[in-house]
Amino acid sequence: MNTIYTLADLRDWKKKTRDLSPPIRLGVVGNPVVHSFSPAMQNAALEESGLDLQYAPFEIAPDELESALRLLRELDFVGLNLTVPHKIAALALVDEADERAKKIGAINTIIFRGGKSLGKNTDGPGFERAIREEFSVDLRDLRVLLLGAGGGAGRAIAFQCALENCERLVLVNRTFDKAQALAHALAGYFSGPRVLGPEARLEAIRWDDPSLRRQLGRTDLVVNATTIGLQQSDPSPLPHGLIAPHLMVYDLLYKKTPTRLLAAAAEAGARGANGLTMLLHQGALAFELWFDRPAPLVAMRRALDGK
Ligand code: NAP
Repeated sequence: MNTIYTLADLRDWKKKTRDLSPPIRLGVVGNPVVHSFSPAMQNAALEESGLDLQYAPFEIAPDELESALRLLRELDFVGLNLTVPHKIAALALVDEADERAKKIGAINTIIFRGGKSLGKNTDGPGFERAIREEFSVDLRDLRVLLLGAGGGAGRAIAFQCALENCERLVLVNRTFDKAQALAHALAGYFSGPRVLGPEARLEAIRWDDPSLRRQLGRTDLVVNATTIGLQQSDPSPLPHGLIAPHLMVYDLLYKKTPTRLLAAAAEAGARGANGLTMLLHQGALAFELWFDRPAPLVAMRRALDGK
């Protein structure tokens, strides 16, 4: 089990870590962060690549994020990953962000270079690769229903669907305003001709929308990008009985035991997969940004399989 570091540790970093070898120069910042598999995966990648550095978890509260990012930059870190709940807030705290990250409104990766911090987002491309690996299909050919479209990961996935010009995208979010605003931002990407049927290529619907059953009948891929399922007692984000065998179900959560959503998918005879493949591919893309070299996918996958 990795030591989880805090803001207090960062304030006293040299003393706290003076006996550590190799030194910690990368990490994941979240709250909570205890469940993250990124340290195991990235440390395997560092070792396999012969890089004498370590990657560690940092538990940082939202009101500590600004101080933590400043200290991590001053302490000569190579880069970071951001996880729940920091992806959106961190965008405003980096010196620069690329166009994709600005459009998404969230970052999951920071590169520290020349005393500056650069924000990027690898969640969308990581998701696209995961869908290809899990279901042997291309995102661009799918009709996607996205639960949790207003969160950091959900926004990244929605933009990836838009950039890939996927067939159809239905945005569902508990706070409906966020889904509506996102649909507005993405409208230009979906203005092309429809291929499959007469319905709109882009829609935002309410969390409890009565048309959900009908929408699912016109969906190929359901994605859970909500945090529902993180707790063992959480319900399924989709009401029981709505999952049909034709669906592919991708749950961004990665846990040893299947989430209720994936259990319901299996029960319905639908294909399902958890978020481990997305974790792998977004992490590999982050590694490539930090070190400008190919990520050792086999070693990273082995580390995840061992969790
Ligand atoms: P986030 O920014 O905090 O967004 C959370 C989302 O969940 C929002 O859409 C929120 O809706 C929704 N939500 C929370 N509680 C809800 C409830 N009770 N009912 C309905 N909707 C609810 O988090 P994030 O960074 O996007 O992460 C989302 C999930 O994806 C997390 O579980 C994270 O671990 C996972 N993730 C996995 C990977 C991977 O590589 N596998 C990558 C990124 C994220 P509101 O807008 O209404 O609050």
